[in-house]
Amino acid sequence: MNRIIIILIAAFLLAPSVACDRTRTWQKEETIMGTVVRITVVGKDAGPAADALEAAFEEIRRLDRMMSLYKDESEITALNMAAGERPARVSAEMIEVMEHAASVSKMTQGAFDATAGPLIVLWQLHTRDGTVPSEREIERIRAITGWRDVEINKKRSTIFLRKKGMIVDLGGIAKGYAADRAAAVLRSRGIENGIVAVAGDIRVMGRRPDGSPWRIAVQHPREHEKTLTVLELTDTFISTSGDYERFTIVDKKRYHHIIDPRTGRPSKGVISATIIGDRGVVVDPLTTAVFILGPEQGMALVRKLGYDAIMVDEEGRLMSTAAVPMKE
Ligand code: ADP
Ligand code: MG
Repeated sequence: MNRIIIILIAAFLLAPSVACDRTRTWQKEETIMGTVVRITVVGKDAGPAADALEAAFEEIRRLDRMMSLYKDESEITALNMAAGERPARVSAEMIEVMEHAASVSKMTQGAFDATAGPLIVLWQLHTRDGTVPSEREIERIRAITGWRDVEINKKRSTIFLRKKGMIVDLGGIAKGYAADRAAAVLRSRGIENGIVAVAGDIRVMGRRPDGSPWRIAVQHPREHEKTLTVLELTDTFISTSGDYERFTIVDKKRYHHIIDPRTGRPSKGVISATIIGDRGVVVDPLTTAVFILGPEQGMALVRKLGYDAIMVDEEGRLMSTAAVPMKE
């Protein structure tokens, strides 16, 4: 169902017996957050590696239980259910993630907008049935989006969504945050080298067993067997948003899952955006925003923040910051 948009070239595939001290990679894969999570760690012994992997996966499962819109008992569901009625009591962690979401929203003039939930749901319901919402429906639903109706009270640890029907959707930030957290769990267990890949949100830690950088391939947005480029990375975060992973065709038109809050419709202009930065909790939502903002504004923002980016527009044109080596 969900294609993995980034292919990890794991060290053991390329160099099965490099290290004489038996240092090697250990890997596990599981479906969480509706997508494939793959974690690779570098270590000597099977036992500790398996324990560290399990702890990292449990951290991602925990965050899924907390942030999933599809779970009745999740914290985000409780918050959304209280919309228009009362402030919801939330964890300090939820406040932190919401503050990051608000800050990226500000930084991107609202292109990334976690309060766009009602619009996202509207499009999901329609495209599932092979229809698209009318202009009137979009305008009506748009009235219950926006940060001006969100009250975050850090002291009381509450969040109030003022209007009934408001929905906070953390789908554009949860994977990046989860990858950050899983990496922190690995580090707390002494793992310095590895990769946490929550679909296209990838935390790169240290190096491969032979000391060389990790190699991360960025997938071609239209030809799935092809790669745009292979990047050599250490200690960084790389995130990709594409229109090719989750989309529906209605009347021969492609409708993907990233909604431009300014138009209330799936964004146009970019078909793939990759950003290489530092923290998932910022880079993941920023990638979604840059996808929406388009090549010019998007690239300018990335440069201003000192990150690197690779983008493909709808004509198939490739753009990247000078620091990213591109093959074409
Ligand atoms: P993917 O889920 O394919 O990795 P993204 O990281 O870009 O892609 O996140 C897309 C998800 O973010 C959507 O499934 C939806 O839940 C949410 N989303 C869509 N549009 C926006 C937006 N403008 N602002 C914030 N979140 C969005
Ligand atoms: Mg993203």
